[in-house]
Amino acid sequence: MKIHEYQAKEIFRKYEIPIPLGKAAFSVEQAEGVAAELGSFPVVVKAQIHAGGRGKAGGVKLARSAEELRQYASEILGMTLKTHQTGPEGRVVKKLLIEEALPIKKEIYLSILTDRDTAKIVFMASEAGGMDIEEVAAKTPDRFIKVYINPLAGMKGYHANEMAFGLSLPADQVKQFSGMVSRLYDLFVDYDCSLVEINPLILTEEGRLVALDAKINFDDNGLCRHKDIAAYRDPDEEDPLEVDASRFGLNYIKMPGGNIGNMVNGAGLAMATMDVIEQAGAAPANFLDVGGGANSEQVENGFRIILSDPAVKGVLINIFGGILRCDRLAHGVVEAAKKVGIKVPVVIRMEGTNVEEGRKILAESGLNLTMASDISDAAVKIAAIAKG
Ligand code: GDP
Ligand code: MN
Repeated sequence: MKIHEYQAKEIFRKYEIPIPLGKAAFSVEQAEGVAAELGSFPVVVKAQIHAGGRGKAGGVKLARSAEELRQYASEILGMTLKTHQTGPEGRVVKKLLIEEALPIKKEIYLSILTDRDTAKIVFMASEAGGMDIEEVAAKTPDRFIKVYINPLAGMKGYHANEMAFGLSLPADQVKQFSGMVSRLYDLFVDYDCSLVEINPLILTEEGRLVALDAKINFDDNGLCRHKDIAAYRDPDEEDPLEVDASRFGLNYIKMPGGNIGNMVNGAGLAMATMDVIEQAGAAPANFLDVGGGANSEQVENGFRIILSDPAVKGVLINIFGGILRCDRLAHGVVEAAKKVGIKVPVVIRMEGTNVEEGRKILAESGLNLTMASDISDAAVKIAAIAKG
């Protein structure tokens, strides 16, 4: 799960990671209120969306007066911000963060994430922080320091020192930095994060280290342990169909560019199904795992969600009935078809528990369904239909 910068900074405050003074604002009036509280200009007006690259796209502005603040706040609120992370459709900005502007002496890149290859936690840092970090990473990867930490042993003082020296921090800042990164490590572990990124971590003219930006991604599998984080969820930032699917415990992911909706039980079978659709010369419009023990209600909602995607020109249902019995699936499909009305061709491949009963229910339903003999037959049939 992703959260906004202003929310990540609330967590930073809890861990005493220094951040600029400031507050979120959801309207121009609130933005003016926050600026008045801060008491002096310039202030920074920052678009809050679940994507980076805002600065380069015009989503971060320095306001030198009350007039400029009003102008930038009203321009940014409601704008569709297109950054290299949002995709071409962009994101509508609904929230702002208004902060004191700080004088920057140096911009550092700092992040902490899990590294699957080594099964360790890794800190990445670079002296060349700021808005061009992607270019630095691509062209001069040697300008990144990596420090690996065995999570069973935990973080030690020498890990922090290695980073501080690698970043050529002045002696005065080493202690400040070490304390900060060790609290960052605690935050990362306490909250089951998959990524915490600060870009830039700045050194101010007076020698203070401050996190100007803040990004935290949580491992969804750990969310059940952090009820306080659930409140940070922002449905405005998520695909509406994915939000809908999560309410029914369905694992649905929209795939841009494809036109074949598919409903499958089990993540492995779902991926294999997407592969055979590609092999048959078509492209999947979504990934949908209804789960091993899905009930008719879940099948019905899965079907409704697939069909509400206007890109879908045909649906492939591929179920291996184990715990999910084929007759139950068939009931779900028939119920969904009655309620939402199917306007696109549907191909079904079904095997396993109670398959004969399932087939009978579908055959007697009067619905226009194409039965497939096996998974490749199903893919070929749906691809042919979707191509018209
Ligand atoms: P991002 O582009 O989405 O990563 O947004 P950031 O929060 O990193 O802001 C982009 C850039 O705006 C930063 O790299 C800074 O150069 C600049 N910026 C943000 N806050 C301040 C500030 O308080 N003072 C100054 N001088 N620049 C700032
Ligand atoms: Mn940034």
